[in-house]
Amino acid sequence: MKITITKEKIREAAGQAYAYASSLTGGANANYIPYLANVDSGLFALSVMLPDGTSVSLGDASFRFGIESVSKVPTAILAMKQTSPEEVLAKIGADATGLPFNSIFAILLENDSPSTPLVNAGAISACSMVSPKGDAEAKWKAIVGNITDLCGSAPVLIDELYKSESATNFNNRSIAWLLKNYNRIYDDTAMSLDLYTRQCSLGITCDQLAAMGATIAAQGVNPLTRKRVFDASITPKITTLMATVGFYQNTGDWLYTSGIPAKSGVGGGVLGVMPGLFGIAAFAPPLDDAGNSVKAQAAVKKFMQILGIGIMNGDSVSIMD
Ligand code: GLN
Repeated sequence: MKITITKEKIREAAGQAYAYASSLTGGANANYIPYLANVDSGLFALSVMLPDGTSVSLGDASFRFGIESVSKVPTAILAMKQTSPEEVLAKIGADATGLPFNSIFAILLENDSPSTPLVNAGAISACSMVSPKGDAEAKWKAIVGNITDLCGSAPVLIDELYKSESATNFNNRSIAWLLKNYNRIYDDTAMSLDLYTRQCSLGITCDQLAAMGATIAAQGVNPLTRKRVFDASITPKITTLMATVGFYQNTGDWLYTSGIPAKSGVGGGVLGVMPGLFGIAAFAPPLDDAGNSVKAQAAVKKFMQILGIGIMNGDSVSIMD
């Protein structure tokens, strides 16, 4: 079927989805990272951006929150960009774990492999793959520069979050050293873990995440700066990773009910991508049991339902003025 959606309809659907999800209660802020437990749990934002730069911003879309696991998406892109999608597949993998984001068991089950760059293990491994090897500050610059290119504006480190996370990341330290044992860390181990922790502590706005999503949707061209950030061949690879593991053990349920590849973070962010059509982001701190934002999930899902589209539907969808 051919479906044509007007930009007005996009605005309307976003408004309705935002209003619907605003009234939802339930979930709780992440409490295993002290900083996150204290973020105002009433904050809520929804942003959409199209490949031509048209955007919708609702609620607290300029509030800077911890990007957390959504940062796994840009760094996977960076690792693919600096090496190749094939090398990322060989060194990390592209398999869903079906287990929580911080699972140690998943590493052992997958024959000592990190599985995918979108869980903690694979993300630490991806940080170790970033060039130039051995130079923490240059690697950090590459990670932040890539996020800046994807968003069209820079993220800002939330120092308090970084300190909070560094002081409590014992599980991630175990993951990093276990991966080192299996030769899945491709640079200094402590440095790779620290880069991962630092990237999770970057402050990002919902508007910035929507722009990142739109860059991925536009096959690597940033709608705001018109800069080509990555080769078009990376879009299907990163959206595959998002579709298969973006919500950890709840990913199948998510894709089944929402129809959009997306990635969550325990800061409350959700980043969704409909290739060729738009990027969407939502943010609200209270999380469900799998660590995914209750309101952000509901808002994105509602938006998709109102538009009547989905990645698996087989329709030819276009957005018009
Ligand atoms: N920094 C967090 C961690 O490593 C990210 C987890 C997440 O957002 N799912 O536990």
